[in-house]
Amino acid sequence: MSLPLANLAPPQTPIDPAQVSGLFRLRILATSDLHVHITPWDYYADRSSATGGLARTATLIAAARAEVEACLLLDNGDLLQGSPMGDLEATLNSTAQTHPMIAAMNALGYDAATLGNHEFSNGLAYLMRQLCQARFPVVSANIARQLGDTPLLDQTLVPPSVILPRSLGDGRGNRQMIRIGVLGLVPPQTTQWDHQQLGDTLVTRDILEAAAAHVPQLRRDGADIVIALSHSGIGAPTAGANLENATAALAALPGIDALVAGHTHQTFPSTDFAASAGVDPVRGLLWGKPAVMPGFHGSHLGVIDLSLARRDGAWHVTGSHVEARPISRRAKSGRVVALTRSSNDILTLAAPAHRATRAWSRQPLGYTSQALHSYFALVMPCPTVRLVARAQARHVAHLLQHGPYADLPLISAAAPFHAGGRGGPENYTAIPAGPLMMRHAFDLYPHPNTVAALLVSGAELALWLERSFSLFHQINPGDRDAELIDADFPGFNFDLLEGLTWTVDLCRPPHHDSHGRVINPASRRIRDLAHLGRPVDPEARFVVATNSYRASGSGGFAGATPDHVILSGPQSSRDVVLAYLAATGGMCGALTDPGPPNWRFGRMAGTTAVFDSAPAAAACTGDLAQLDAEPLGMTAAGFRRFRLRL
Ligand code: MN
Ligand code: MG
Repeated sequence: MSLPLANLAPPQTPIDPAQVSGLFRLRILATSDLHVHITPWDYYADRSSATGGLARTATLIAAARAEVEACLLLDNGDLLQGSPMGDLEATLNSTAQTHPMIAAMNALGYDAATLGNHEFSNGLAYLMRQLCQARFPVVSANIARQLGDTPLLDQTLVPPSVILPRSLGDGRGNRQMIRIGVLGLVPPQTTQWDHQQLGDTLVTRDILEAAAAHVPQLRRDGADIVIALSHSGIGAPTAGANLENATAALAALPGIDALVAGHTHQTFPSTDFAASAGVDPVRGLLWGKPAVMPGFHGSHLGVIDLSLARRDGAWHVTGSHVEARPISRRAKSGRVVALTRSSNDILTLAAPAHRATRAWSRQPLGYTSQALHSYFALVMPCPTVRLVARAQARHVAHLLQHGPYADLPLISAAAPFHAGGRGGPENYTAIPAGPLMMRHAFDLYPHPNTVAALLVSGAELALWLERSFSLFHQINPGDRDAELIDADFPGFNFDLLEGLTWTVDLCRPPHHDSHGRVINPASRRIRDLAHLGRPVDPEARFVVATNSYRASGSGGFAGATPDHVILSGPQSSRDVVLAYLAATGGMCGALTDPGPPNWRFGRMAGTTAVFDSAPAAAACTGDLAQLDAEPLGMTAAGFRRFRLRL
């Protein structure tokens, strides 16, 4: 669909003070992408954390509420999955107790929430049971059991929207009722990403198409203003079909007054965004409308203050102030400093789940004779990624051993899940030599995927790697300290193919963009692609062990589509990693020796590039020597910068 550009201007018309009955104020507080981070604790590393946890955000919520008369507290989705505590809850699958995330949100008095894509990762029945415990409405307008002829005829899974009547004051003793419409939206790709769990039980609709129908309906139903809970990134400011990140384009729709964005785990307003048409990253405006993205895991509280005037029987937004209030800051040294204390109420409420998660995360699994880390997962062969790949291959080989594919070469695709990026400088896997515990398996495999196997051609394998290695900027021979990594590419789409060897030519432009679209069809960065030392025949057939997310077509990898699947589920990828650790973890070196490096950058004499990693990566002298890299200074975001000689 396309939007009429004439409608894209900010809707505010100048207010004549003589015509208004005083200025009323409404504060909207928002969290997003909490992912069952309630306690200020890092369960992977088993130590306290200052960067996340709703218990800390709760203190900001209380303070923000105390500053104003009228306040709404909203959550923007991805709340029920994405941490060891969330996975333990799903494993125990208790029907007796309220989910700790829902219990915390009930205690904090949330007014409404929407669904994120990860809500579906533990299956629909599990989700619906948790939602029954919520003492706040949960809305989503574009995920449905069945689509109708128009969005308003869709059989949505939960109500598309809700109208919250609230009383507002103007500080001069006048009070007025306002009816606040809250509409929920989720990326339409959700049903594809979790197809393994959902099958064809749910369908989605384009975010903009759904909103264009539901916003006017909300107004007809009596909403005076409309807030969009958009579990979607900011994205491009103009409309497109089936946008995953549609919040900027959504802001252009008439009838929406304020927006909460999320999903990409960024912060808005912030310096992470550049000013562009429709996007004001300083004042927090999208097409002139207030919008906030409150980080992730409770890292920030989104605050939108609206000034409202009542004129001619209708409410008008006359001004706004937007901020994302952080729970921590980073000192120059890179150390994280907490800015808030945790709420005792939330800590007490989550204490049983916290104790259970810690106990579970410390269960012994085996032993590693070497430290395993993902500090250099994007720039050289990574032992943690290769371990997951070998675990998948072992599992798939076992299942296929007597079938028609037993004689085909077996490749295994795996990507780093903890590789810095938007997750910050703490977002790395770092497992010391010594006992392996359950939390390490979680660290190695945080997602609830299942194992799948695909039948692909040699030509598709080459394109698969082109997709992964488009993550790098083009580097020109002779460049000095060129930026190596394109931050728009998430690490989880950097698939490495265990079983093959190759070299990467960074002087050529990327084949794909960060969404997996082909942008330079003639450009090839991957060369010398070989299997057992022999060039890969484009016509040859291979089996690729991977996960359900990739097999469903997510990420846009050649050959990774449902019609290539020869094996799927039900074993979870993490269970397969657990089995591998149990089988090999006791054997000397078997676990940690992945064999010789399987890929490298092509040499470019006199050329250097820079990339970021964890501060602790500077101590990995063996890796740095192999990589021909040296540590530089710290970045403002708390990463250590490194120079790579190509
Ligand atoms: Mn999320
Ligand atoms: Mg999400």
